Amino acid sequence: MKKVLITGAAGFLGSHLCDRFINEGLHVIGMDNLITGDLKNIEHLFKLKNFEFYHHDVSKFVHVPGKLDYILHFASPASPIDYLKIPIQTLKVGSLGTHNLLGLAKEKNARILIASTSEVYGDPLIHPQTEDYYGNVNTIGPRGVYDEAKRFQESITMAYHTYHGIETRIVRIFNTYGPRMRLNDGRVVPAFIGQALRGEDLTVFGDGSQTRSFCYVDDLIEGIYRLLFSDYVNPVNIGNPNEITIADFAEEIIKLTGTDQKVIYKPLPVNDPLQRQPDITRAKEILNWEPKIGRSEGMKKTLDYFKSLTKEELYKSEHKDFSSYS
Ligand code: UDP
Repeated sequence: MKKVLITGAAGFLGSHLCDRFINEGLHVIGMDNLITGDLKNIEHLFKLKNFEFYHHDVSKFVHVPGKLDYILHFASPASPIDYLKIPIQTLKVGSLGTHNLLGLAKEKNARILIASTSEVYGDPLIHPQTEDYYGNVNTIGPRGVYDEAKRFQESITMAYHTYHGIETRIVRIFNTYGPRMRLNDGRVVPAFIGQALRGEDLTVFGDGSQTRSFCYVDDLIEGIYRLLFSDYVNPVNIGNPNEITIADFAEEIIKLTGTDQKVIYKPLPVNDPLQRQPDITRAKEILNWEPKIGRSEGMKKTLDYFKSLTKEELYKSEHKDFSSYS
C-alpha cells in the first residue's frame, strides 16, 4: 500500500486531501501543529486503520518511520489576519518547514508536492496571471511573510529537484472555498456567510471593485491529485477563472442567504491585490483539468456547511492565544 504524508492535515485543504487519498486506497499520515488547524476536520478519519496523525510542527525536524511514497506540504497559516498574528511562524513553515520536508523526501526517495499560491504574483500587473509572470510583491508588507515564504519555497523545491534529482511538483493555488473553512479566519467567503447567518451587515473592504476568482475545493483537490501523478515539475496554476468583484460577490451572498442585511464599507487592507484571475491553459493542457463546479452550486454547498455549525460555533470569536508558539 502506498503511503502519503500530508502536512496541514487538520486544515481546510489538508483535511480534504486526507479524505481523497484515503478514498483512493492510500495509507495517510496526517501531520499538523494545530495552530490554525482543527482536529474536528479529520476526526472521522481516526477510526480508520489507514490513517495516522502526528501532532508536530514541521518547522522542526520531521521524522516518519518506514517507507514513504508521497509528501504533500500544505501546512501554513493561509489568511491575512493569521499572518498579522503569527508572522514568524508563517515564514518558518514555508521556509524551514519546506526544507525539512524536502530533506525527508530525499531520504525516503518520495515524490513531494508543495502548496504554493497566487500570492507569488502579489498585486499582479498582468491579467489574468500565467505561470510565467514573476509577480509584484512587497517584501516588507503585511502579506510579505506569506508571499516571500512561498516564493522561497518554490525556489528551494526547484533546487532540490535540479541538484538532488528528487521528484517535485508545485501547485499555485488561487482563492479556494468550501466546507471546513474556518469561520473566523477573516477570508471573504466565511466572513460574508458568517455575517449573513448572524444577521450582521456584510463588510466590503475598499470600494469593492477588487476582484477574486473563487474555486470550489473539490475541483482544486482533483487538480492537485492529477498534478501529483503527472510528470510535470514547473508550477501549475489551479483555480477557477470565473472572476467577480468583491462588491458583486457581497450581493450574491445576500441573495443566496436571503438576508436583508446591508453592505458596509471598511478600509482596504494594505497591499490587498486589486485583481486576481488564474490563466489555466497549462493545467488544461498538461493535466486535462478544468473546474466543474460553478460558484452558485459551490456556494450553496458551502452555505449548507456553515448552517450545520452550532450556534456557539457561529458566534465564537477568534481569540486563540498564539503567544506560546515559537
Ligand atoms: N474582503 C472583504 N471583506 C471581508 C473580508 C475580505 O471585502 O470581510 C476582501 C479582501 O479585502 C480581499 C478579498 O475580499 O480584497 C478577498 O480576501 P481574502 O482574505 O478572502 O483573500 P485574499 O485577499 O488572500 O485573496
